[in-house]
Amino acid sequence: MKVDIKSLDLKELTAFVETLGEKPFRAKQIYQWLHVKQVASFEEMTNISKTLIEKLNEEAELVTLSVVEVQKSQIDGTRKYLFGLSDGNVIESVLMRYKHGNSVCISSQVGCRMGCRFCASTLDGLVRNLKPSEMLDQIYKIGQDIGERISNVVVMGTGEPMDNFENLLKFIELLTDENGINISQRNLTVSTCGIVPRMKELAEKNLQITLALSLHASTQEKRLQLMPVANKYEIHEVVNACRYYFEKTGRRVTFEYSLVGGVNDTDTDVKNLCTLIKGLNCHVNLIPVNPIKEREFVSPDTGVTLAFKNKLEKNGINVTIRREMGRDIDGACGQLRKRYMGQQKERLA
Ligand code: SAH
Repeated sequence: MKVDIKSLDLKELTAFVETLGEKPFRAKQIYQWLHVKQVASFEEMTNISKTLIEKLNEEAELVTLSVVEVQKSQIDGTRKYLFGLSDGNVIESVLMRYKHGNSVCISSQVGCRMGCRFCASTLDGLVRNLKPSEMLDQIYKIGQDIGERISNVVVMGTGEPMDNFENLLKFIELLTDENGINISQRNLTVSTCGIVPRMKELAEKNLQITLALSLHASTQEKRLQLMPVANKYEIHEVVNACRYYFEKTGRRVTFEYSLVGGVNDTDTDVKNLCTLIKGLNCHVNLIPVNPIKEREFVSPDTGVTLAFKNKLEKNGINVTIRREMGRDIDGACGQLRKRYMGQQKERLA
């Protein structure tokens, strides 16, 4: 099997280059071509000899994503990308433009096996994990497309990053490496549905990245209705893992809370939520649920959402309502890919 050269850190790349009988300094040049200039073929590496390029073509694979479709919002500049992988699978990523910079939301897996009830990404299960190179190239390709620097990255697209943990760690290392695209750890957020052992392991790495937990409920009972992962990790255990993350890293944790009309948006929910996260240095991000056609969930009225926010604030909790971006293009996570795959099926039938 060929080496996935874009997934190697500089040390591994140096060792690889040496096995090809080359001097170690070549590794740094190649690394720059891959991660700074972001070329799509070895031939474009103009300071590398023809013989080495030949060897690279024989021994290594240069993972690059192809753009299958781009949807551009006319309202706020949001872009949704559908990327093709070399094995024919497709994934989606999103560019969001803010005053403070460009933020990219990437996928970490093809599909997902977590089964959250309101989420479109998980409806067809998990296909496979993404390699570090495939996670990185989503950011590289979007940066090239807009010709601007990407300053923030959120791992909040399709997939459960903690279910692809080794690749996630390598991705983080490459993304934040000063020899590469050099995105600051503080500008990276990883979102999880709550895989407790991996959250603790990440805490112990003592990185400066932001951990976001998809909480979505104020009690174990309600969380179970929405998220099957709650069968495995009880709600207090998950919140305690967040406390542990804060203790180890000093980083404020984000709780994502998708408001589902009549399910988790009541006064009792506010009360229970305050008790649950009391004393934790955190920030709550309310997301009115984005309805998907396969499920009956609806988002609460704007008034209910605002009242929920105000009540949390009265209890001293930092809270924001997620601004809806790209309302005029395919909504919730996983919907663009899902629609595309539906069309493929029709074409083949
Ligand atoms: N698996 C990770 C990251 C991917 S989902 C996680 O669970 O955190 C990114 C966020 O979007 C999660 O908080 C997820 O619960 C939420 N989400 C998924 N589908 C949604 C929908 N239809 N409406 C609102 N939020 C949704």
